Amino acid sequence: MKSYIVGNWKLNFTVGEASIYLHKLLRKLPNYRDVDVIIAPSLLALQPLSLQVDRHKLKLAAQNAFYRDYGAFTGETSFTQLNGIVDYCIIGHSERRYIFREDDKMVAKKVAAAIRNKIRPILCIGETESERAFGETADVIRDQLLGGLSEIGAEDVSKVLIAYEPVWAISSVKAAKLATPSEVADVVKLIRKILTEVYGKKTAEETPVLFGGSVNPSNAGAYLTVPGVNGLLAGGSSLILSEFADIIDTAKRVRS
Ligand code: PEP
Repeated sequence: MKSYIVGNWKLNFTVGEASIYLHKLLRKLPNYRDVDVIIAPSLLALQPLSLQVDRHKLKLAAQNAFYRDYGAFTGETSFTQLNGIVDYCIIGHSERRYIFREDDKMVAKKVAAAIRNKIRPILCIGETESERAFGETADVIRDQLLGGLSEIGAEDVSKVLIAYEPVWAISSVKAAKLATPSEVADVVKLIRKILTEVYGKKTAEETPVLFGGSVNPSNAGAYLTVPGVNGLLAGGSSLILSEFADIIDTAKRVRS
C-alpha cells in the first residue's frame, strides 16, 4: 500500500502565503509514486491552489465541508462544490468535534457526502486525555470508527483514510504529550481488528490507517514504522516547509 503524508494547515496562511508555500514545496518535491502528499489549506485558498498544483506530486484536501449538496445552508460549502477542486477532505477532526460540536451522526453524513461526490474522506478518530485515563479508549475508537462509517456501504470503506489522532497528543492542546509508538500500535491494531470483524479481512487490509499528533521530522520515522501505520497527518509541522519536506522524505525512505 502507498504511504500518505497529510498536512493540515488549519486556520493559517493567507491565499498569497499558501500559494508561495505551494510553489516552493512543488519545486522541492520529486514525483514520489509510492507516497501521496496531501495538503489541506483553508477553504479560500483551495480554488486558486487547485489551478497551481501539480497533481502528480501533490493532492489537495478540504478541512471540512457540509453534507448537503445544495440548498439554504448559509455559510456552508458542499462536497459537490468541492468536486474537481480537491481529492480528499478531512472529516471529524477533533477541533470540529469539540469546538464545533460535530457528533458521529454529522461525521457519518459528511463521510457519505464525500464518497457520493468522489472525494476521499480522511476520517479522524481519537480519544481525549480523560477518556484514556478512564480506560475508555477502545469504546471511543469503536464508536467513532463505526459511527463515522455508518452511512456508507461496505464496498466504499477502503476509500476512507482513517486517521488515529489522540486528542491529547495534538500540539495545539494545552500540555500535549507525545504518543509512544507502542500506544499508537495498540490502537492501530484495534482499528484493524474492528474493521476486520465488521467488513472482513480484505477491506481491513486495504483501508489506510494514518497517525497524527505532534508529528515532526524527528519522530516521523518511529511512527511510520509502527506496524499497520500507512502514513501521517501533521498539523503544526506542516506549516514549516522544511519540516514538512523532511517528513515526506522520511516516508519515502521508510518505504524503500
Ligand atoms: C492535527 O491537528 O491534525 C494535528 C495532528 O496537529 P499537530 O501535528 O500540530 O499535533
